Order: sequence, then C-alpha cells, then structure tokens
Amino acid sequence: MGTINVSKKYTAVEKAYLPAILIGMKITMKRFIQGFLFRKSWTIMYPEKRRDYSDRFRGAHFISVDPKKTENCTACFLCETVCPAECIHIVAEERDEADNSYGVAKEKKPASFDIDLLRCCFCGFCEEACPKDAIKLSTNYEMATYSREDAIVDLDHLKRPMNGRHEKKDS
Ligand code: SF4
Ligand code: SF4
Repeated sequence: MGTINVSKKYTAVEKAYLPAILIGMKITMKRFIQGFLFRKSWTIMYPEKRRDYSDRFRGAHFISVDPKKTENCTACFLCETVCPAECIHIVAEERDEADNSYGVAKEKKPASFDIDLLRCCFCGFCEEACPKDAIKLSTNYEMATYSREDAIVDLDHLKRPMNGRHEKKDS
C-alpha cells in the first residue's frame, strides 16, 4: 500500500506568517470600523443580558415537583442505570402515605439523589429514560463552581427554582 506525502514547502512570506497576520488585521479593522461608525456590538453585557438558547439545549438538570413540592421521582434507578458517565447516585426509601401523590401505597422516593456535574456529558439519556418525567435538563448553562465538591448537586439543589428551569414543550 502506498503512502501519501502531505508535506508542503512554505514560501518565505508564509514562513513569516504574513498572510495570516494580514487576514487577522483585516478582520480586526473591519470589526473596529463597524463598531466605531455603526455602533455594532459583537458582545453582550453578560450577565445583565443573556443569549437565547434553543429549547433543545441540554444544560443543568432539575427534578420536577408536584403542586405540593414533592419530587416526581419514584427512585426507580432507571436514570442511574442508563447514565453512561455513572454520575447519578440515588438512595431510595419508602414514600410516606402523606407524601404520595400517585394514589399508590408504598411507592418509593429518593432519600438522596446526587449528580456529579463534572462527570456528566449532558447526553440527556437520564431524561429520556425517566418514566415519571422527573429528571429534566434545563437551558441553564451557569454551572461554574469553586470546588469539585460543589459540582456534586443534591436533591434540594435539583428541586430548586432556577434560571432556565422550564418544562420542555413536548412534556
Ligand atoms: S445527561 Fe447523560 S451523563 Fe449526564 S446525568 Fe444524564 S445520563 Fe448521565
Ligand atoms: S429521576 Fe426518573 S428515572 Fe431517575 S430514579 Fe427518579 S423516576 Fe426513576
């Protein structure tokens, strides 16, 4: 089997990066003139202004709640099982009769529900697998933390109101 030689001989001008520098300067000057003369802005004043993201954008997770603020999760472990990053960790317990919103006695609920956002690849498999439409991915992209520990979110965090928290249109 033959080989393909992809090596290229560069001219002295190319070796000095002159074409690349001139192209870069042309773009910079174009943006400068547009901004200076026509007040055209290429950036937004984040966080006061935010860009609109598609409904299909997969951001921070949340757990949906019923009118009594009880999580819709029944601790079935489907999301934990399907997660390719193994970043969901659930501990189940029996749901009290008083908490039961489904008319089914002894249904389970999560005693704890943790997601390690640093391991998550935001594939959305957990959302697709959930039979209760409990776990969802929002359009919220603000997930920066100061420590790795803070990136592990718990049930209280997942149930909280937040920017970008929304019910998907088809749910
Ligand atoms: S989005 Fe994917 S990787 Fe992230 S928790 Fe859900 S299933 Fe796991
Ligand atoms: S979030 Fe959904 S899939 Fe995951 S344990 Fe709860 S009910 Fe099951």
